[in-house]
Amino acid sequence: MKTQVGIIGAGPAGLLAARILQLNGIDSVILERRTRAYVLERVRAGVLESGTVDTLRTYGMGERLNREGIPMRSMQLCWDRQKADISLDDGTGRHLTTYGQQKIVEDLILQREADGLPIVFEADVSSLDDIETAPRIHYRHNGEDRVLDCQFIAGCDGYHGVSRGHIPGSDEHVFLTEYPFAWLGILAEAAPLAARRGFAHSTRGLAVASARSASVGRLYLQVEPDADPNAMSDQQIWDELDIRMDDGTAAQLNRGPIIERSVARLRGYVCEKMRHGRLAIAGDAAHIVPPSGGKGLNLAVGDARIMAEAIRRLLTTNDTTLLDSYSEMCLRRIWPTVHWACSMCEALHIFPGQTNFQTRMQYQTLNHWGNTEIGQQRLRKAQLGLPYEI
Ligand SMILES: Cc1cc2nc3c(=O)[nH]c(=O)nc-3n(C[C@H](O)[C@H](O)[C@H](O)COP(=O)(O)OP(=O)(O)OC[C@H]3O[C@@H](n4cnc5c(N)ncnc54)[C@H](O)[C@@H]3O)c2cc1C
Repeated sequence: MKTQVGIIGAGPAGLLAARILQLNGIDSVILERRTRAYVLERVRAGVLESGTVDTLRTYGMGERLNREGIPMRSMQLCWDRQKADISLDDGTGRHLTTYGQQKIVEDLILQREADGLPIVFEADVSSLDDIETAPRIHYRHNGEDRVLDCQFIAGCDGYHGVSRGHIPGSDEHVFLTEYPFAWLGILAEAAPLAARRGFAHSTRGLAVASARSASVGRLYLQVEPDADPNAMSDQQIWDELDIRMDDGTAAQLNRGPIIERSVARLRGYVCEKMRHGRLAIAGDAAHIVPPSGGKGLNLAVGDARIMAEAIRRLLTTNDTTLLDSYSEMCLRRIWPTVHWACSMCEALHIFPGQTNFQTRMQYQTLNHWGNTEIGQQRLRKAQLGLPYEI
């Protein structure tokens, strides 16, 4: 098989890059290891910056998003039985939007299928070669070894993908921190309450309550890194969420059936070398942020925009200027965002062996973000996201 751009991974980065390339008249083939059903059902992120929403609208993916996206104009922090409700209004009209990542993925897949463009599911990429001149992607599909010849490879295959390992010397450009805890994430058929949304610091560990729709909530508990997602009963999870989210008002969360559970480890990871020859990596393939900032999907969208434009310039006018500065341009958004997500992570979780002195220090950080003008400005700016350079 032959195409202009071989895209590895049908997550938000790969699907959006394919869409932007398509609208610029460039052909691509997406190779995805998982089944179509698995990709459509995978529950993950859900908080979109306005830049992400604008990007999806620009590339024709705004119809359902405009109907079902829930504007989020404030954010709550809760600690030591008190709460701060921080306005996200920075005077520009920007706000966050709640819209599940799986809906974005579904919108992009259905559009691509309606346009008759190729996504090969259950295509497991094993290796890449000739990435400096005439790239080839080797993959296994339907029990057979196959090859995709292309002019450029977009490595959008997430943290566990193969692309990053094909960038020579990428290991020497990696920065990593592993946190000693994980998040138990649940999806519940329980109407989220506006008054009980946001991030909570508790001496028992972090809790988060957010909305996926008017009737479905997405909630998280800090758990041990190797926790079994099924170890707690539904009742134990709801009880624990109510205890940890106690803001001194005795208000309780709406409860309902838990329809999905998963455990995700928390880490910060950046690979600063994001391109070599005719291979570039984007999204989680290049960086992971702890979910406390709600930034991973937003960063993936930012990378995909720049990568698609750099590929367009290369393939249409042989101009490599943007491609040559791809890593640097992406990193100008990545590092400040990673810093914010890690700062949130470190202020909100209980670390093994944490002293009561350290807990008091966390309260001071949360008080700064929640109750001082300068702290609220910092939080607002970071949550709304950095502007795009192109
Ligand atoms: C619990 C949780 C909550 C989160 N909350 C938020 C949030 O609120 N806001 C936010 O912005 N982000 C959040 N994130 C992060 C966000 O989900 C990711 O950053 C986002 O999915 C990155 O998109 P991606 O396309 O780069 O990678 P992925 O979505 O991981 O897609 C990569 C794709 O590549 C495929 N693949 C991998 N290897 C191969 C191979 N060898 N061959 C073929 N295909 C392959 C995978 O199957 C996958 O489909 C959260 C993440 C988690 C786990």
